Amino acid sequence: MNVFKFGGASVKDAAGVQNLAEIVRTQGKTAVVVVSAMGKTTNALEELVRHYMNKKPDKAENQLQTIRAYHEEIINGLTGNFGNAYQTLDSLATYLEQPPAGQYDEVYDQIVSLGEVLSTQIIAAYLNDRSITTNWTDARQLICTDSTFREGSVDWTETCRRIVKAVRTGVVTLTQGFIGQAPNGRTTTLGREGSDYTAAIFAYCLNADSVTIWKDVSGVLNADPKWFDETVLLEKITYQDAIELAYYGATVIHPKTIKPLQNKGIPLFVRSFLSPTAPGTVIGNYEQHLLIPSFIFKVNQVLISLHPNDFSFIAEDNLSRIFGRFAHAGVKINLMQNTAISFSVVVDGNPDRIPALLELLKQDFRVSYNEHVELITIRYYDQSTIDRVLVNKKLLLEQKSRYTVQLVVKDLG
Ligand code: ASP
Ligand code: MG
Repeated sequence: MNVFKFGGASVKDAAGVQNLAEIVRTQGKTAVVVVSAMGKTTNALEELVRHYMNKKPDKAENQLQTIRAYHEEIINGLTGNFGNAYQTLDSLATYLEQPPAGQYDEVYDQIVSLGEVLSTQIIAAYLNDRSITTNWTDARQLICTDSTFREGSVDWTETCRRIVKAVRTGVVTLTQGFIGQAPNGRTTTLGREGSDYTAAIFAYCLNADSVTIWKDVSGVLNADPKWFDETVLLEKITYQDAIELAYYGATVIHPKTIKPLQNKGIPLFVRSFLSPTAPGTVIGNYEQHLLIPSFIFKVNQVLISLHPNDFSFIAEDNLSRIFGRFAHAGVKINLMQNTAISFSVVVDGNPDRIPALLELLKQDFRVSYNEHVELITIRYYDQSTIDRVLVNKKLLLEQKSRYTVQLVVKDLG
């Protein structure tokens, strides 16, 4: 049994759905196929929720029309019986006519989850029309979570029991990424970009032979082509390296996705849906380390340095107070470093959260900060790779461990 996962970009139009069908027909006739919402539908549904919850019915109605028109355009480019998808669109319209029932996050999950429902209904209709026998399967009946809306935590025992029972061999099992169900029957989601995780859950429960994530890049690259002209495709990476790269901010795969696969030794392929015969990258249990240096850039970072007002050293009680303040402000620390009399951290430059955080910190510390800095992480670095990224940059802070160096720099323009 193999598990395939297709993201939103792979099914953003009718041609994308046709391409998916071709990949499934040639390589995945008995696979479990996990699909995200089409194109940018999740963002569009998030906006719809905002209008609906803010009691802006006209804006909500407009947004619904946009979402409907987008899916209709895709349907019009395909053949099949799309009655189920139309029913979903109609039920969403009816839902929006009622006043909001529940807290924001709960309502969010009831609405935003429909992006995946719609996309799989359209794709199932098309696959069946093309004589690729497809079993549309409702992930909400299989992925059991707690009641944490927008970040459901999976009940593995019950989920595996249901998945094993539901998945039949010999046909395509088509299901939704990202969505699940709370014990009370309300729909939950697993957090943005959660579809990869769904694929890993299915693979884990089914003891699958492999998972393949079909993307618009040729595999896992050693740097984001946005920042680097010359990138190298990493043919093989260890689970550990994949987790580390994701942790430092490489956007390839969520670390949550890797862990279940690592526990069962299930290989994870990252391949291009644009050239489906190319081998791509495989992540698995390999002895050798990835020796090619990988570069991860985070821009728009803020370097904050704290100095105790009372000239006390940076001791444990100060540190626990500092962490408490960050947690309270909901700001995640990307890097930290301390000296005897100061403590520096690098965080994402989030304008909604940083000012409040700085206010909190100023109660106990003298605070200095540097905005618009970059955090560069190099895994498997050497001096020449460091020199390469420091061209035209001022180095503000450096942290080295055996395999990884992190550099906080300011662009000299
Ligand atoms: N559609 C969801 C999102 O965009 C889940 C996913 O794509 O993985 O976040
Ligand atoms: Mg998506």
